[in-house]
Amino acid sequence: MQRLIDGYARFRAKVYPQHSKLFERLAKGQQPQALFICCSDSRVMPEMMMQCDPGDLFPCRNAGNLVPPATETNSGVAATVEYAIRVLKVADVVVCGHSDCGAMKAILEKEQLESLPIVRSWLEHAGPSSKWLTRTLKGATSMTFEERLQAVTEANVIAQMQNLKTHPAVDEALKKGTIGLHGWMYDIASGNIRRFDPQLGAFCALLADGPSSAPVEAKQELKIA
Ligand SMILES: [Zn+2]
Repeated sequence: MQRLIDGYARFRAKVYPQHSKLFERLAKGQQPQALFICCSDSRVMPEMMMQCDPGDLFPCRNAGNLVPPATETNSGVAATVEYAIRVLKVADVVVCGHSDCGAMKAILEKEQLESLPIVRSWLEHAGPSSKWLTRTLKGATSMTFEERLQAVTEANVIAQMQNLKTHPAVDEALKKGTIGLHGWMYDIASGNIRRFDPQLGAFCALLADGPSSAPVEAKQELKIA
């Protein structure tokens, strides 16, 4: 806990004073660019990955970056999606999976969930396609566990993009052409992001000329470094 309190002390003493105008402006409202649905995993930090300031992203995080149907309101995901699109009018929605995802590992190895009934129930939202894929991959003896995990994680991103389309606010905005829907995969070790290309039916590099050529700007202290 002391590490967190020390961090807050640094924020109050150094970061906040340098950006007080931004915070004063944000106190009056927000206009985030995107709804960013990703895993709760501590190693996935969308604001750091996208180099965003407060107010830029509207995050929705849960185990496995899942999007239950609109009728399932207990998780809060449906409410977050509806609010982001109808009230905040975000221009884009991103579903971002990641490497070494504990939720996806648990889907592959159901026995891990014996003592986790709530997690098991939550992961049902990964949907029937994940069950089918998991069963199919069990017979794929030529694939390593990491390869099967990547396949299930990528399939889950695509399945959750489909689930999103069943939400009335998303369906409406897609028909009007007011939002873009994106499926991404983040690799923790390399920092690479790949995007799902629906035309190719494959995940491709997010940056056309490779992640190593990402523009590197001098970042202000506010940014998570
Ligand atoms: Zn995860």
